[in-house]
Amino acid sequence: MVDSEKKCNICGKAFENSTKLNQHKSESHKSETKVKKTASNSSRYKATGIAAAIAVIIVLGVYFSENQQPSVTVIQGVRCDPTESIDFHIHAHLDVIVDGKSVTVPAGIGIKPNECLYWLHTHNTSGVIHIEAPQETTFTLGQFIQIWDNTPSISPTFEGMMHGDKNFKVFVNGFEYKDGYDKIPLNAHDEIVIVSGSVPPTLPQSYEFNGL
Ligand SMILES: [Zn+2]
Ligand SMILES: [Zn+2]
Repeated sequence: MVDSEKKCNICGKAFENSTKLNQHKSESHKSETKVKKTASNSSRYKATGIAAAIAVIIVLGVYFSENQQPSVTVIQGVRCDPTESIDFHIHAHLDVIVDGKSVTVPAGIGIKPNECLYWLHTHNTSGVIHIEAPQETTFTLGQFIQIWDNTPSISPTFEGMMHGDKNFKVFVNGFEYKDGYDKIPLNAHDEIVIVSGSVPPTLPQSYEFNGL
């Protein structure tokens, strides 16, 4: 009868005595060392896996930090910030008349969705220019127009709306401003009218800001 203690615990083969069993084990089952190798291999894989994971995290980290930090864009000294500044917050209103017809000022001028807002921007099509900056500064109509034409996917652009007319007239609170539109300051509650083509007999001289 074969003693169960003399059975190889690895392959189940029976042996007459433990000496033969041990001999068999050392000759036939070098697998112990193999197992160790496999183990060390798997730990090497683990280490490689961890290193790869770390590399992925680093790459993602760089990717996200690059994408979360909005590109600092400045147009004529007007910065595009990720959030709205309200320390200096005033509003002016803009009407645009082309060939005797009032045209709509687009919403979203100066706003790059999910990225940043220029200190000068429009939130809707009312023509209200929001001037929102970290500190009191005199901004100009010229800066606003530059931002308008440099806001991605804004339609129409100011240039397009003007059909390329560079000799448009500008009226501020009913008075024509002849020193160049790029010098026109944007004051709180100014009513600005840009006219391309014939000037209508009556122009808006003020705007009801309704608490803005
Ligand atoms: Zn705003
Ligand atoms: Zn505002």
